[in-house]
Amino acid sequence: MDNNTTSFDPHHGHYEHPENSAEYTGLTVNSGVIQPPCVNPYMKPRRRRSFTPAELVEGILKGDVTMLSRAVTLVESVAPEHQAMAREVIEKCLPYSGNSRRIGITGVPGAGKSTSIDVFGLHVLRDGGKLAVLAIDPSSERTKGSILGDKTRMEKLSQHPDAFIRPSPSAGSLGGVARKTRETIILCEAAGYNNVFVETVGVGQSETAVHSMVDFFMLIQIAGAGDELQGIKRGIMEMADGIVINKADGDNIDRARLAQAQFKSALQLLPAPPSGWQPEVLCYSGYYEIGIDEVWEMIDRYFKFITDNGFFERQRREQARYWMYETIDSELRRRFYDDSDRAAALANAERLVLSNRLSPFTAALQLLGEE
Ligand code: GDP
Repeated sequence: MDNNTTSFDPHHGHYEHPENSAEYTGLTVNSGVIQPPCVNPYMKPRRRRSFTPAELVEGILKGDVTMLSRAVTLVESVAPEHQAMAREVIEKCLPYSGNSRRIGITGVPGAGKSTSIDVFGLHVLRDGGKLAVLAIDPSSERTKGSILGDKTRMEKLSQHPDAFIRPSPSAGSLGGVARKTRETIILCEAAGYNNVFVETVGVGQSETAVHSMVDFFMLIQIAGAGDELQGIKRGIMEMADGIVINKADGDNIDRARLAQAQFKSALQLLPAPPSGWQPEVLCYSGYYEIGIDEVWEMIDRYFKFITDNGFFERQRREQARYWMYETIDSELRRRFYDDSDRAAALANAERLVLSNRLSPFTAALQLLGEE
């Protein structure tokens, strides 16, 4: 220790700052306390016990939230050994899944998704049962984290013992993130969650992913200054089974009603949805809890309608098929690009294609090993 800067005070067990010597006046420097390396020398770093797939499945089927969370963590992990375990857990849970209402909820940031999910969630839990709130955040690939599905955004729901809230998986492409969320739905259902909300931000592609894993797709809108229909991609409106206009409260009611009329007439211009259900447009206020019953009456009507006409089962089967092919597509791509020899071959082919010495098609087929 350099004695020019500090001197050890044996009575107090700390180093005395040199500026506290008599030649300095005016200022004193409080001396710090040296922290012992560890308060409890016997304490070992806490290690989480890992569970076998069979233990996880047993816990999930009992509705054990800790086991469910641990299994979801495996699903989200990129480590191959975790993925293998996750697959085993999912396969064993599959026979116990499928028994929930899966509801997709989308809307632009600020539309009131979290406020509404909080209220809608408490509403469905009033009738008993359990609710899982999951999320697909299209930006999570970049931000490596997600605010969607964040517990802090759903204050009341997050304290409810029958609500399981899980933010968006963060790793990988949108397709990968969506697949993990779909697998998480299976685990939640096996754990007895009979209501599942899947939230996403209204930016386009992520809606398609959510739509491909839910039974009812809800679009949350807010009334603007007469430009309600702007910025909403036609494709998103086509996916909606219900458009709900939030913030229909105070002096915003008239604007919300106007937006409702505009959406209704816009929907009439769209082709009839395959379910045979005519999408409805309702006004409500998540914040003041106005019109919540009406929104859920619509959803109840919808589920009765699609159960009676067989669309519920048909859509679920279609979705399972979609996810099989979607997974084949993404796995083929991943295996192709992850091959360590491929990078050099790709660079070489790219050079030949760019200098016009090889056609893009021949190059592609050669790389795929087909020529
Ligand atoms: P999200 O980004 O879609 O999750 O939107 P939030 O739920 O965070 O809501 C965005 C803002 O709108 C917040 O300041 C809310 O308090 C407000 N808000 C949400 N729902 C309503 C509503 O029904 N009426 C009014 N007046 N404000 C609302």
